[in-house]
Amino acid sequence: MGEHLGPDLFIVKEVTVQYKGGSFAAFLRRASEILGPLRAFFEKTGNDFTRFNYLGEWHSHHSFALIPSTKDHKSMLGIIMDREFGAHFVILLLVAMNGNGALLTDLTVYQPSRVPYKGTVDQTS
Ligand SMILES: [Zn+2]
Repeated sequence: MGEHLGPDLFIVKEVTVQYKGGSFAAFLRRASEILGPLRAFFEKTGNDFTRFNYLGEWHSHHSFALIPSTKDHKSMLGIIMDREFGAHFVILLLVAMNGNGALLTDLTVYQPSRVPYKGTVDQTS
């Protein structure tokens, strides 16, 4: 979940961690597990949905290339094309640590009418 700071600029305010439903090589998203934290976030931020909202999904690719898998793309396209969900965009953030303990990131933006494209992550804030 994040805050919209300006044109094409968001800050991550909270993340959820899913402890079940995946394996070494596959991530299985459980939408039901995010509903509680999402409701709490909305309540805490005064239901100001244009400023504070769900940004997307994240998971690690600690043993794989830092690029979305075919399944990752399908999952994210499923979210963004879900009219009931009604998002204008969602992001997929992939993370990994290199041998020096530095956090590596890959961010892909999904919109209903665009080909997925890369975003950037600024870790300085
Ligand atoms: Zn993945």
